[in-house]
Amino acid sequence: MNLQTHVLTGILIQICCFRIFVFPLNIIFTILFAFLSHFIIDAFVLITYHTPEPQKGDIFWLSWQIITYGSGAFLIILFFPYTLGILFANLIDIIDWLILREFYRIKFKNEERDWNKNYFFHNIIAKIRKYTLFWLPNWNYEKKAVISEILINVFLIIGLIYLLV
Ligand SMILES: [Zn+2]
Repeated sequence: MNLQTHVLTGILIQICCFRIFVFPLNIIFTILFAFLSHFIIDAFVLITYHTPEPQKGDIFWLSWQIITYGSGAFLIILFFPYTLGILFANLIDIIDWLILREFYRIKFKNEERDWNKNYFFHNIIAKIRKYTLFWLPNWNYEKKAVISEILINVFLIIGLIYLLV
């Protein structure tokens, strides 16, 4: 799913772990649960608008990218003290999307690339999805499916307000 969803999850996990556990378990469990949360959240990616490849020229796709990355960046700045949870909730995307993709781009510069081979963790997530959530509809190209992710974000924000207020 998109940046803001993983960021919100990381913040929530860190808040909960720091309330429940004492040092150093609060740090250990924040790292562990935030990292694992990515597997669960991304397993549900089919019910959200999330095209595997960029839809350049599509104003809706572009707007959604600006909204997701913009709100994600805003949350990272606003909830700076929760960087640990945020970082580990996004670590899988950092490894697969930023590091591995660049690595393969440089290594196989002139070859026709199979994008699926570029990822490590997201291939594992795809397997988890295949064996557990295969019954979900695939709305990755359905624009209306932004509503699913917005609803998930609303629930996460309500949880955050509940914990902080
Ligand atoms: Zn991901």
